[in-house]
Amino acid sequence: MPNPATHSPATDVIVVGAGLAGLVAAAEIADAGKRVLLLDQEGEQNLGGQAYWSFGGLFFVDSPEQRRLGIRDSHELAWSDWQNNAGFDRPDDHWPRRWAEAYVDFAAGEKRAWLHGLGVRWFPAVGWAERGGQGAGGPGNSVPRFHITWGTGPGVVEPFERRVREHVAAGRIAFRFRHRVRGLNITNGVVHGVHGHVLEPSDTPRGEASSRVVVGDFDLNAGAVVVTSGGIGGNLDLVRRNWPTERMGPPPAFMVAGVPKYVDGELQGLVQAAGASLINPDRMWHYTEGLRNWNPIWPNHGIRVLPGPSSLWLDPTGRRLPFPNYPGFDTLATLTHITRHEYPYTWFLLNRQIIKKEFGLSGSEQNPDLTGRDPRLTLRRATGKVPGPVQAFMDYGADFVVRDNLRDLVAGMNERAGNDLLDLATVEREVRERDMQLANVAGKDTQLALARNARALLSERLIRVAKPAPILDPANGPLIAVKLNILTRKTLGGLETDLQGRVLRPGGEVMPGLYAAGEVAGFGGGGMHGYRALEGTFLGGCLFSGRIAGRASAAAL
Ligand SMILES: Cc1cc2nc3c(=O)[nH]c(=O)nc-3n(C[C@H](O)[C@H](O)[C@H](O)COP(=O)(O)OP(=O)(O)OC[C@H]3O[C@@H](n4cnc5c(N)ncnc54)[C@H](O)[C@@H]3O)c2cc1C
Repeated sequence: MPNPATHSPATDVIVVGAGLAGLVAAAEIADAGKRVLLLDQEGEQNLGGQAYWSFGGLFFVDSPEQRRLGIRDSHELAWSDWQNNAGFDRPDDHWPRRWAEAYVDFAAGEKRAWLHGLGVRWFPAVGWAERGGQGAGGPGNSVPRFHITWGTGPGVVEPFERRVREHVAAGRIAFRFRHRVRGLNITNGVVHGVHGHVLEPSDTPRGEASSRVVVGDFDLNAGAVVVTSGGIGGNLDLVRRNWPTERMGPPPAFMVAGVPKYVDGELQGLVQAAGASLINPDRMWHYTEGLRNWNPIWPNHGIRVLPGPSSLWLDPTGRRLPFPNYPGFDTLATLTHITRHEYPYTWFLLNRQIIKKEFGLSGSEQNPDLTGRDPRLTLRRATGKVPGPVQAFMDYGADFVVRDNLRDLVAGMNERAGNDLLDLATVEREVRERDMQLANVAGKDTQLALARNARALLSERLIRVAKPAPILDPANGPLIAVKLNILTRKTLGGLETDLQGRVLRPGGEVMPGLYAAGEVAGFGGGGMHGYRALEGTFLGGCLFSGRIAGRASAAAL
């Protein structure tokens, strides 16, 4: 119910955060004929938020792309995977679980047709993120479900930005950039507006940190407020404060930031302080394969390797990480293994033959072929050359060592790490033992068995999983070692919301006038992923929850 005392006739709904969730919510509200103010602390050049930088991977279930590759997926299989992955086990998981059910219905139902209708298209080879590897009832995807958008992240943002700009032209949506919300306006328990600081104009390029100099204040009122301010991954202090030390060991001393600095999590905390329920803050989705970007955009910029399954994963002393900690199999298990052992970093050991097929780099700017929708460049992925962005990391990356023989490689790794923790004999034994298992078509090495299994799928064989071959064979060289850092990315917990996106108070009562969507709401409900993500479910979670909160807030006025 709008509060008649404060409802400004000029605006029906205020949306805070012009990332993907905010754009979707604003477009839906304006489609319903209501007027929107869309606020963001950044300048217009950052429209689309993190989604612009994303790889554009989307989780679909039983899609035409999957069927064309002979993949048999189903709602039943996806929901079973989701539950095994999420591990919902708390009383607080009531709304997260209900959001998860609704989201899997969406991903197996209208999601693809809706986006297709808006002009979005996908690369035909479906990726297999989070392979699991611990059996049918364990975490992970049973089949490939990661559909990369043609145009990557910008291709996902495009139709929603277009809709929003059309509404701006028609006078239904107005932007307020450089408006940093610092609190909610609440009268008699009803949320009816926001206040905060106006920041000085900034022309720093997209993604770079912008000034926080305050040049004024604002106070805006409306019939409802939708918060879409993103997660906490750019605020390493907050990540460390929320770190689940009991469950996962101490937070890493060193991390790289997988998201821009504006993903600061501050508004989430302010909304909680104003009376909202914030649940599952200890659930986060960080990666174990972070590279320091040789060409950084935001501070401490890290790039995530989306690895194929063949690299050897070594601890700082050169010993292989134990099962199931293989590249791309179970992110949370590997992260927990690393943090419990307090490894400051780990290593991938591989060679040229593996890197050219198995090193995906996440991010729109790391995939100019797909982002630029360039068929000729994209086809080169199947030609067996090292992709340009990967070659640039091999040439300039601070975490890469490339050498012709193992002795020199190990010496280079010690030099890179600034210690002498690695000795040639240990590393050589690990690599030779693995290579010896290749004398027969089957052997006892689980990692090789899983790689062979993946190659049973055509798309995996063609562009994703290298043919099992000896790492030390000079024909497959040079040898490559990659020093891996923990990379912060997604916030899985968040503001607790019901199935209309209405924010709840602790105890479950609705906070009238307040809605939340996207990462700030744990992509719906306060954490629809539970403990782990099946991947490609974050952009989709923003689309789904942004649409729901937008429609519900408009309908309530
Ligand atoms: C490199 C990269 C690759 C990724 N790849 C994928 C992928 O392939 N698939 C997938 O599903 N997901 C991926 N993701 C994750 C996905 O992009 C994000 O989870 C999603 O875009 C979050 O959108 P959002 O709208 O919730 O928040 P954001 O995009 O973070 O937007 C929030 C906005 O709110 C603004 N804001 C914050 N606080 C305030 C305040 N106090 N006042 C005013 N404004 C404020 C911020 O400036 C920002 O513009 C990737 C992310 C990155 C960075």
